[in-house]
Amino acid sequence: MDLSALKERLSSGRLFHTYIVTGGDAAAREAAGDLIAAAAVCTGEGPAPCGRCRDCVKVRKGIHPDVEHIDRREDAREHSVDDMRAVRARAFVMPNEAPRSVFVIRDADAMNIQAQNAMLKVFEEPPPHAVFVLLAENPMRLLETVRSRGETVNLAPGRAECDPELAAKARALYEAAASGDDMALARLVPEIGKLSRLELPEYIDAARRLAVSGFGRPGGMTPERLAQFTGALDEADRMTAVNVSAGHISGLLLASLCGGI
Ligand SMILES: [Zn+2]
Repeated sequence: MDLSALKERLSSGRLFHTYIVTGGDAAAREAAGDLIAAAAVCTGEGPAPCGRCRDCVKVRKGIHPDVEHIDRREDAREHSVDDMRAVRARAFVMPNEAPRSVFVIRDADAMNIQAQNAMLKVFEEPPPHAVFVLLAENPMRLLETVRSRGETVNLAPGRAECDPELAAKARALYEAAASGDDMALARLVPEIGKLSRLELPEYIDAARRLAVSGFGRPGGMTPERLAQFTGALDEADRMTAVNVSAGHISGLLLASLCGGI
């Protein structure tokens, strides 16, 4: 859903337990997180969030005792599994003063796989009073099992393309995979090993988007090939999240993409 659909649903009293807020910039995601948090704890009259009650005001000031923001530890690139287990435990504690407690996880896409798995159970069976808001620049870094448990709020559908040079590389990979050109794949995939930590997820994301958007069009992949391609990219994505080297990832991608279907 987009922002206006979110506002409409919140004001009609429909609240989900887990939201994944993506798109836009960090400030816009933060604001959407506050909106959800305020709606969850609002005790005022009329459509939530009313913006005027004690709880709404406290959320706006960032001082509501039942709205917790979870940041990565200083200098840490990831949310650790121990930190997320602690969040999971706190989610079962009853709220202090509001009807609900809200956990806004900043950079939720920086939860490592173990951390995501630790949260999965509570996303699946949340305590009745708990609401989770995952702010994620790149939701594709979240496990499919996590993504499927949350309602996605996309602040900017059709976000800007990634870096043009990176996009061109991703397109070349997609086209080689779509046409079953193993020779080209053997040439292109090792190039992935030269990408930086920041470029790699973006590259994987761009290739995945091309494959999904090209499906059913001339030159697009067969359903089997699409599943194989996106499956290989998902695996590569998971590996980037657990710090496997780009060189190693490109080796595994080559093995799973070449000589396939
Ligand atoms: Zn209110």
